[in-house]
Amino acid sequence: MPSPQSQDRFQIAVLPGDGIGPEVMASAREVLLAAVDRTPNLTLECTDYSAGAEEFQRSGDPLPASVQDACRQADAVLLGAMGLPHIRWPNGRELTPQIDLREIFQLYQGIRPARLYHEADCPLKGCGAGEIDLVIVRESTEGLFSSRLQPTDANADSVEDRLLVTRARSEQLFHAAFRLARQRRNHLTLVDKANVLPSMVFFRRIFDEISEQYPDVATERVYVDAASLFLIRRPQDFDVLVTENMFGDILSDQAAALVGGMGMAPSADIGDDLAVFQPCHGTAPDLIGQGIANPVAMVLSAAMMLEWLPGTASQQAGAAIRQAVERVLQDPRLRTPDLGGNCSTSRITAALLDALG
Ligand code: ATP
Repeated sequence: MPSPQSQDRFQIAVLPGDGIGPEVMASAREVLLAAVDRTPNLTLECTDYSAGAEEFQRSGDPLPASVQDACRQADAVLLGAMGLPHIRWPNGRELTPQIDLREIFQLYQGIRPARLYHEADCPLKGCGAGEIDLVIVRESTEGLFSSRLQPTDANADSVEDRLLVTRARSEQLFHAAFRLARQRRNHLTLVDKANVLPSMVFFRRIFDEISEQYPDVATERVYVDAASLFLIRRPQDFDVLVTENMFGDILSDQAAALVGGMGMAPSADIGDDLAVFQPCHGTAPDLIGQGIANPVAMVLSAAMMLEWLPGTASQQAGAAIRQAVERVLQDPRLRTPDLGGNCSTSRITAALLDALG
């Protein structure tokens, strides 16, 4: 992490990506720069880089080495969305440079908050604003994604995926989750499948060991199938949840659905040396070019980036963006079509800029 100075100046590598990525990035950039402009002693230098499926069509590489170097040298990375269903590797797999980044930079903490800003956005009855306020910490470098790059023989009789859990990575993950719980409501839920899978018995044992170092944090252990049910029945009870890669992938989409869908779900992929901030959603090919993508997830991801950067100035700018989102979403007419509204991306952006004051 970079160290704070009196004039805080940060280099941000911006990867708008594919599909609606550049559209939501344009919105977030306006809001981000407006918030920074209004904050004394804070400068962001944002530089764009091309990566993703369209870059693959241009250069044959979705994540060129020069872009990786730029990310390595930046203080943080802001990413839109990457991959398009019709652009694939010769073996048929979709391009996923956003997942490659997590592995290259060992961004093991997938931080995925879900917060309900207005009851109208929740499909459940009786959930008020702020009542759903949870964070899923998804392990993002191993688990059931660990053999994703292995070649597949299409003519084989069987294909196997491996669920990898290492002690070192799990310890790092659980420490991060406990620290996050301490900054919030002091409650941490382990989500696993320790009743069936040996890897998950191991995962739980490590969790139990680490939990002894955090006696002030209340813990519970829930199987992933039950967690999925509890997330619908009593989402208000959750604070921080920590889980394996694939379980976190699925549960975080479910949590997003509780607060308005993918357009409302920001995320951060954090490692020990770098962090990438991006919305949970993909490139939404059905919406490209229509100007109706919901920019809120991307804007909130930019706020998470500011809050992750060191120093009070960036904290202040991040909080200002969060408050602007809160203010805008209080008016249920200010919604893009994914939330039943008829606002364009630029209308929501203008409302956010107004709300920043
Ligand atoms: P990925 O596998 O890359 O995560 P996906 O296939 O799961 O992508 P997404 O692109 O995340 O799909 O989104 C699924 C659908 O949700 C989209 O097709 C779109 O209709 C809707 N959606 C996603 N993001 C947004 C957004 N920001 N605004 C409006 N609708 C969205």
